[in-house]
Amino acid sequence: MAAALSAHDCGVGDILLLEREQHLGGILNQCVHAGFGLVHYGEVLTGPEYAERFIHRVMSTRGIEVSTGSYVAELKPGKVLTYLKPGEIRTVRARALVMATGCRERTREMIQIPGTRPAGVFSAGLAQKMINIEGLLPGRRVVIVGSGDIGLIMARRFTLEGAVVRAVIEIQPQPTGLRRNIVQCLEDFDIPLYLGHRVLRIHGRNRVEGVDVGQVDELGRAVDGSKFSLECDTVLVSVGLIPENELIEMAGVQIDRRTNTPVSSDLNYTSVPGLFVCGNAFRVYDLVDSVTRDSMVAGGQAAAYLAAGGGAPFNA
Ligand SMILES: Cc1cc2nc3c(=O)[nH]c(=O)nc-3n(C[C@H](O)[C@H](O)[C@H](O)COP(=O)(O)OP(=O)(O)OC[C@H]3O[C@@H](n4cnc5c(N)ncnc54)[C@H](O)[C@@H]3O)c2cc1C
Repeated sequence: MAAALSAHDCGVGDILLLEREQHLGGILNQCVHAGFGLVHYGEVLTGPEYAERFIHRVMSTRGIEVSTGSYVAELKPGKVLTYLKPGEIRTVRARALVMATGCRERTREMIQIPGTRPAGVFSAGLAQKMINIEGLLPGRRVVIVGSGDIGLIMARRFTLEGAVVRAVIEIQPQPTGLRRNIVQCLEDFDIPLYLGHRVLRIHGRNRVEGVDVGQVDELGRAVDGSKFSLECDTVLVSVGLIPENELIEMAGVQIDRRTNTPVSSDLNYTSVPGLFVCGNAFRVYDLVDSVTRDSMVAGGQAAAYLAAGGGAPFNA
């Protein structure tokens, strides 16, 4: 939305905004806690409040067409997009393209936690969506793996919903989330944080029954004699985000395999002229304000590309 508004402000008059969900706003819609907008608005807002301000502007801007329920399934060289709407498949060719596809969460498999494969292992973002949007509580006795901001926010969220968070387990010697979240989400609720520890094994037949936890040395190996067990019915995995860039890869953009982001000499640029990437798809940001700033730049870059004659006219 920030990229679309900025491109419009820079003189682009024909903008199509595609969103696979039924509502605009992305991940903000499930972030009902406060802490958004301090930099951009100088106010403390919740995620939906922050999104709402952009939605209002986008919906009242002539020249931006919004298409929700529109899943982009393919991107071909030449900026040809195919997207699915219920009951139809549409193809459009863009003269300039800004991708703002966000991130997906790393999974249990990616960090290789051994043990059985019972129900009750969730990614933190999925649990957040279940609680905040669907009104479902995924578990009552929870162990959280990872001390990034999403894991910390969810420790507090589960506690406020009446669940018991047994511990947050972090393999690094220091927490990876913001200091304010350590204080407001863990310390204020007396939730134990084990730094330099990892989950050694998940137990349970049908449902999670518990985990073994151990201290690790500087090489990440379990320290002898440090193992202890925690009973729980839920393990929340919050171990990082991966930028969603499979579509641009289809279109021939060079990708850095280490980070799954476009190889780029400058903010938002890719190896394909006229194809820009912004927000968490370009770089995983802590704050939405940084995503907004970056995306406004991307919208301006797309406008400048078009103004300089980039991209063939539609009917050529
Ligand atoms: C739990 C959590 C807590 C946070 N707390 C804070 C906080 O307190 N303060 C703060 O400033 N920031 C916070 N953030 C960070 C900030 O909110 C996010 O980084 C930011 O909103 C991400 O914006 P984005 O547009 O890059 O990605 P997203 O919000 O993920 O948006 C990507 C959009 O692209 C759509 N999409 C993806 N692929 C396709 C496709 N193929 N076709 C069509 N649509 C597609 C998705 O549906 C989604 O709507 C938090 C983030 C999380 C997850």
